[in-house]
Amino acid sequence: MDSDVVIVGAGPAGSACASVLTGRGLTVLLVDDGRRHGSWAGESLPPGGIDLMRSVFGDDVVEGHRSAYGVRSSWGSGELGTTDFITTPLGDGLVLDRARFDAQCRDHARSRGATVIPGRFAAMSSSGAEWTSTMQDGGRVRSRWLIDATGRSSSVGVRIGARRERSDRLVAQVLVTEDRGDPVAGTIIEAVPEGWWYSTPLPGNRRVVAMLTDADLLAPTGDRSARWHSALARTSHVSDAVGTITGDGEPAVHRADTSVLHPMSGDRWCAIGDAAASWDPLSSQGLMSAVLMGARAGRALDDETAMQALERDIHLLRSEHAALQSYYYGLERRWADDAFWHRRQG
Ligand SMILES: Cc1cc2nc3c(=O)[nH]c(=O)nc-3n(C[C@H](O)[C@H](O)[C@H](O)COP(=O)(O)OP(=O)(O)OC[C@H]3O[C@@H](n4cnc5c(N)ncnc54)[C@H](O)[C@@H]3O)c2cc1C
Repeated sequence: MDSDVVIVGAGPAGSACASVLTGRGLTVLLVDDGRRHGSWAGESLPPGGIDLMRSVFGDDVVEGHRSAYGVRSSWGSGELGTTDFITTPLGDGLVLDRARFDAQCRDHARSRGATVIPGRFAAMSSSGAEWTSTMQDGGRVRSRWLIDATGRSSSVGVRIGARRERSDRLVAQVLVTEDRGDPVAGTIIEAVPEGWWYSTPLPGNRRVVAMLTDADLLAPTGDRSARWHSALARTSHVSDAVGTITGDGEPAVHRADTSVLHPMSGDRWCAIGDAAASWDPLSSQGLMSAVLMGARAGRALDDETAMQALERDIHLLRSEHAALQSYYYGLERRWADDAFWHRRQG
């Protein structure tokens, strides 16, 4: 046996789980293919998120990111309103440098004794009490437990036979561009007939500009980039915040659906983070849920009852998320007959 536990995916969920498991005296191998690393999504941590990250990864994990003092949004009317975090008892949020944040989470897991190795998980087999995981380059690792922390692809879980169930087909069309616009360190959101836009400044004078819509509402591939740029020009607020985009940057399409893996755990395996359940980015709850799930699975790993309780709680969180999602989408009544909004307002 190479390790008690192999965790595939060294994002925040995998690193949180590894940190807890090594604290319990288990040997942990974190395998990561390096594909996700990068700040293309421009994630923010809402107020309250900073304390959670500190409690799992230590104080250093929130160093080197930008404070977020609020969110500006045009939602339900053409006016741009501000939600100022000064009004919440939980304090400011953070605009994360995601590549840095992931490295900080992994460094913490490493400092607790986890071994992090590069590799792309391709397949696994189980015999008796042992998993053998095979990497794309043919390398193999053996373990008693196998954990899927691969994000929305659930690469391990689906190979074991679990099924990913989607509640919607939301996608993000994302361009990372030079930041020539508004220097306010915060996110701006704007609802439009075909979905909604957001933009967030990134470190290194860059900025994420993204349009969220349903996969079937995207323009055909050849027209996609031009349609994205002209839709951005039609926004009332986001285009001002973004400023001029030089060149014809081609936005990349990423999945952003709300979905869940059935089941999330079984005999000596489980899924955590986005691999178990993923959320509409409007909620900004992905990272907090991923880290909470990872840490809790680390405590529950060899306790079937605790693992079942975790799975129940994730489903509970999904119902709460669905109620909140329908509340927020219901606030926007201007385009109730357009497909994107109609689907969400029933
Ligand atoms: C457009 C958009 C905006 C978002 N905005 C926010 C926000 O503002 N706030 C927020 O909290 N959340 C946000 N999220 C959600 C957040 O990005 C995710 O919830 C979070 O990244 C989940 O962490 P994770 O560790 O579960 O998975 P990931 O971060 O996806 O990590 C998975 C890791 O597994 C690796 N991997 C995948 N497959 C394999 C394989 N076969 N072999 C080896 N390694 C593999 C990947 O390279 C990666 O390192 C947003 C998401 C999107 C799509």
